[in-house]
Amino acid sequence: MLDLVLPLECGGCGAPSTRWCDACARQLAVRADEPHVVTPRVHQGVPVFSLGRYAGARRAAIVAVKEHGRADLIDPLGAALRGGLRQLLTWGVLGPPLTVVPAPTRRYAARRRGGDPVTRMALAATSDGRDARVVQALRMTTMVRDSVGLSGAARQRNVAGRVRLRGPVQRLTGDVVLVDDIVTTGATAAESVRVLQTSGARVFAVLALANA
Ligand SMILES: [Zn+2]
Repeated sequence: MLDLVLPLECGGCGAPSTRWCDACARQLAVRADEPHVVTPRVHQGVPVFSLGRYAGARRAAIVAVKEHGRADLIDPLGAALRGGLRQLLTWGVLGPPLTVVPAPTRRYAARRRGGDPVTRMALAATSDGRDARVVQALRMTTMVRDSVGLSGAARQRNVAGRVRLRGPVQRLTGDVVLVDDIVTTGATAAESVRVLQTSGARVFAVLALANA
């Protein structure tokens, strides 16, 4: 609905008459040395890869999807995730077939924003159907507060014990990678990895669209 009433503009830079301009597409292109390993404050136990800084067109597109319902930007963001997954396969960090697990979102937040954007991006990233499938294996309990404005330690306390496995662990076959839109302190990713590993899943990496 929102798309119909908003004037047509690039979700990255606001340029008129296009939904996603070439300049912004270039900002999201995955280069040969990307994604980069980043070191969030909360220790992860597996390497964390980010496709870029949470800035510019990347930031604008993520915000547009999450806060303004710009579903048309799921595809370009999903394509960036796909590029990142390909690199991790090429480098041997992960081996096929992959199970891609979206980081959990608080349910009411996802509802308010028109569906869980990370899952939709993951589905777009794996839509070619080869080597990877998406399993929504994690959920967050309803007690979790919005993490905006919380420090790293407070975020870690906020999510501790709040990430739960959803569905049978048998679905988590092969190499598992956790994907998220933004990694900040890494608290949610770390708790997600811990829950997956405790359940016996072979999770080897975290891949984020952006690091802040
Ligand atoms: Zn643009």
